[in-house]
Amino acid sequence: MKIYNVDINLTEKCTFGCEYCFEKCDETKLKDFYDPELLKKFIFRLLESPWFKKNFEALNIGLWGGEPTIKDEMIIDLINTFMFDNVKFGLFTNGYKISYELRKILTDVKHFKVCDQPKVMTQISYDGRPIHDLYRRSKGNKLTSTTVRDQILKFDRDRIPLVIKSVVTPESFKYMYWAYKDIKELYKECKNTALSYFPTIDYYGTNKMEPAVLETAKKELQDALVKIASEEIYIEGDRFFFKWFNNSRNLCTAGHGIVAVDLDGHIYTCHACLYDDQQKKFKHRISNIELETVADDLERMHNEFGANIMDEGDCKNCDVNYCLRCNHAKYNQSKKQGYLDRWRDYQVQPNLCEFYKINSMITKSMKEVRNRRN
Ligand code: SF4
Ligand code: SF4
Ligand code: SF4
Repeated sequence: MKIYNVDINLTEKCTFGCEYCFEKCDETKLKDFYDPELLKKFIFRLLESPWFKKNFEALNIGLWGGEPTIKDEMIIDLINTFMFDNVKFGLFTNGYKISYELRKILTDVKHFKVCDQPKVMTQISYDGRPIHDLYRRSKGNKLTSTTVRDQILKFDRDRIPLVIKSVVTPESFKYMYWAYKDIKELYKECKNTALSYFPTIDYYGTNKMEPAVLETAKKELQDALVKIASEEIYIEGDRFFFKWFNNSRNLCTAGHGIVAVDLDGHIYTCHACLYDDQQKKFKHRISNIELETVADDLERMHNEFGANIMDEGDCKNCDVNYCLRCNHAKYNQSKKQGYLDRWRDYQVQPNLCEFYKINSMITKSMKEVRNRRN
C-alpha cells in the first residue's frame, strides 16, 4: 500500500511556548494559512493527477502548526471536503485545547477507515510528566502535563484514534526513567489506546556540547536506560513498551514520500524546512500550490529523492538496533556540497550516534540476560 504525504502548516500561532521549539514566531511572516480554498484546489489537482493515481492508493494530510487546533474551522472544513475520498489526516497537536466542534468531528469519523487506517489519527505531544513540565509550558508559563494527560484519557474513553509522541533532550536524560514510568502508568489507565514510550532526542540539541556536558549526558542516559531495561526485561515476546529496545532504523522519506506546504502556499521538502530562515529555506523549495505544474514538480522530487532511499551509506558499518535520522537536521549540519549528499550525511551528528550506541549496548545486554534466564 502506497500513501503519499502532504504536511500543511495551518498557522504559526501556538498556545505553548516550549523551550525546545524550533517553530519560532517570525514577525515578518504570515500567521495563518493564506487561502484555504486554494489549498483544497491543490489537493484536488494532486488527487486527479495521472502520477498520483498511478502510484498511490491514498493521500495522508498532516495538519501542523504552530498549534493546528487554533485553526479548528479549517481542519473541520478539510475533513468534510475530503470525507469520502481516499484521503486521511494526521493531526499533530499539543492537546491543550480541543474545541467542542473539533472534538465532535473527530468523534463522528472515529470508525472511518482509509486503506484500513483511521480517517483521522491524532498525535498528542506528551513527554512524560517530569520532562513535559520542564519544557512544555503554556504561553503563560503554566504547567500543562495534567491537562494534556486528561486530554489523552478523554480521547481514549471516546475511542478517538490516538498516538502520543515524546521528546527528550540530553539535559533531561536524567528524568527519562521517570517519564517512562509516568507513560506506563498512563497506559494502564487507558482502556482502548495502545501507548508506548519512544522519545525523539531533540535533533538540534546535541550538536554543540562541551566535552564535560556530553560525558554527563552519556552517563545519565546510561543510568536511565539501565533502570528502564530492569523493567522491560520482564516483557514477554519481542515488542518492548520502550521502543528504543526494538529494532528500527527506518529512514525518513521526506522529499520522496512527504512534502510540506507553508502558510504562503510554497511547497518544501519537509515541514522542518518551513522554520528555517528565508535564505536556507529557499534551497528546499519544490513548488507552489497555485502552479499548474505542481504535480509534475512533486513527481520530479519523488524520483530524485527515491533513487537512493534505502542506501544507508556510511551507516552500513554501524550495528545499532535503533536510530532515528532526521535529514533536515543532517542537511543543516553537513559541510558537504551536493544537496542530497548533505541531506543524507547521516553521521554528521556524532553526539547523537553516541547516544544510540549506548542504547544499543544496553539493549544487547538486556536481551542476553533475558535469554540466559529463559
Ligand atoms: S506545542 Fe509545538 S509549536 Fe507549540 S511551542 Fe511547543 S513545540 Fe512549538
Ligand atoms: S527530515 Fe526530519 S523533520 Fe523532516 S520529516 Fe524527516 S525526520 Fe521529520
Ligand atoms: S548511530 Fe550514527 S552511524 Fe549508526 S546508524 Fe545511526 S546515524 Fe548511522
